[in-house]
Amino acid sequence: MLSDKERDQVRQTIEQQIAEAEKEMVVLKELTAAVAPDNSIGRISRMDAINNKSVNDAAYRNTRTRLKRLQNVLEKVDDKDYGLCMRCGKPIAFGRILILPEKRVCVSCSK
Ligand SMILES: [Zn+2]
Repeated sequence: MLSDKERDQVRQTIEQQIAEAEKEMVVLKELTAAVAPDNSIGRISRMDAINNKSVNDAAYRNTRTRLKRLQNVLEKVDDKDYGLCMRCGKPIAFGRILILPEKRVCVSCSK
């Protein structure tokens, strides 16, 4: 079971991670803006731009999913069972909670 102090710490960590994810989304959104059909950038760099775009699109989707999970879990930090593995019911290591607060399963169950 997490103490109140630990829950506060987790909540702060989640809020911080949400802020970071939101910042990342803004940057990625700019990077994923449509590749202009501009002949002046040349064929090779246009191909580069398209490649980068699909990498950035994937990063954007991943960040968006993570952001949703973080926002979701922020409401659950006060739940009695937060910090316990949803699969085996054992306490999740506090260090893991701070790094990946949106994961609700322990290390052994996530394998
Ligand atoms: Zn487990």
